[in-house]
Amino acid sequence: MDKQTQDPCATPKGLLSVADARARIDALVTAIKGTEQLPIRSALNRILAMPIISSINVPPNTNSAMDGYALRGADLPVSGNTRLKVIGRAMAGAPFSGSVAAGQAVRIMTGAVIPEGADTVLMQEHVTADGEVIEIGSGHKIGQNVRMAGEDMAVGSTVLAPGKQLLPAELGVLASLGIAEVRVTRRLRVAFFSTGDELRSLGEPLEAGQIYDSNRYTLHGMLSRLGIEILDLGVIRDDRDAIHQAFKDAAAIADVVITSGGVSVGEADFVKQTLDEIGKVDFWKIAMKPGKPLAFGTLGDAVFFGLPGNPVSVMATFYQFVQPALQKMMGMSAASSLTLKVPCAVELKKEPGRLEYQRGILQSDDKGNMTVTTTGRQGSHVLSSMSQSNCFIILPAECAGVHRGDPVVVQPFAGLI
Ligand code: AMP
Ligand code: MG
Repeated sequence: MDKQTQDPCATPKGLLSVADARARIDALVTAIKGTEQLPIRSALNRILAMPIISSINVPPNTNSAMDGYALRGADLPVSGNTRLKVIGRAMAGAPFSGSVAAGQAVRIMTGAVIPEGADTVLMQEHVTADGEVIEIGSGHKIGQNVRMAGEDMAVGSTVLAPGKQLLPAELGVLASLGIAEVRVTRRLRVAFFSTGDELRSLGEPLEAGQIYDSNRYTLHGMLSRLGIEILDLGVIRDDRDAIHQAFKDAAAIADVVITSGGVSVGEADFVKQTLDEIGKVDFWKIAMKPGKPLAFGTLGDAVFFGLPGNPVSVMATFYQFVQPALQKMMGMSAASSLTLKVPCAVELKKEPGRLEYQRGILQSDDKGNMTVTTTGRQGSHVLSSMSQSNCFIILPAECAGVHRGDPVVVQPFAGLI
């Protein structure tokens, strides 16, 4: 086929599309068994293994949203002014024990229980107080400034479903229900190591041709944030027996084994050879950039991901393939990742054929209009681009470049909460 007749949208021969790779991984991984009971503070970032059904109303009582006066809505004047007699006080934690009759009001603070007979609160700023008497005008609504019992969470309702990740908001929700401990899925155990004769660990001097191993550190960070139990097996030399042993050791102690390096063709055939001997592993070339080569399969009972060696490829393949798989194994319900379409402030170069995750900087002006720009050099070895960026710019396989002002899809790295 010559260049003229080639379909630019077709996935290049021998390459698996990103969507197909995701689907194949999803078809193989399942949630691990095992749960543990934890105090809620220790359950931060963990995945809920049971439904949380509210045994109380939150708030437990109908209460005031404002500092002011509680009264009967029927006493609100349609026009002109009305005077009411203040018969007591209701404070947060110290309810008024009597009942409010026609022509009466109770001084009330935010969070205090609405006294019997009252159904409306007037803000103190809307009232003229004169000793035991208040004067109110027209324009108020019956029921205003009142929070109903159970308005936030009603007794008997399912507040959190199994699979929910417990973030700061969920810890607060559990606490407001009076729940001190929760059952969460056990921590996923992930073992990882780097491969490469050129790699040195921190603290060792670099000799000619050597580099520091950075992948174990990005992996440590990405895995830690998921609440995973990490087993760092260090750097393994490009040696058949050492690799063989490392794979065996890792598979014996972990639910998931992740390696970096040595998956490109011809580079380290013994990796492929070892995996073929002791596991069921496919070697894929994925139509994506960065991160073309990826090995995926099983090693004994463990799931295996062989990531490429280049540092940006490790991070991109981790976020696009490994993280969703680990989350599924941890019992987390699938969440679609948030993407935005924004104008690109600069021209971007790209060849059609592979889906690209370029590193971008999403920014907004003082009116909230967002644009994205590039971090610059996009080589898969330029790890500083991951540090400078706050989003991936996702350019579809068929895209042949972006003009200034063209809309592009971005995937922000971090949500606020
Ligand atoms: P490989 O996939 O083993 O051919 O490695 C591809 C590139 O990534 C080479 O330039 C390696 O030196 C580099 N690389 C591999 N592993 C690491 C690592 N752990 N940290 C930093 N760079 C690495
Ligand atoms: Mg290597």
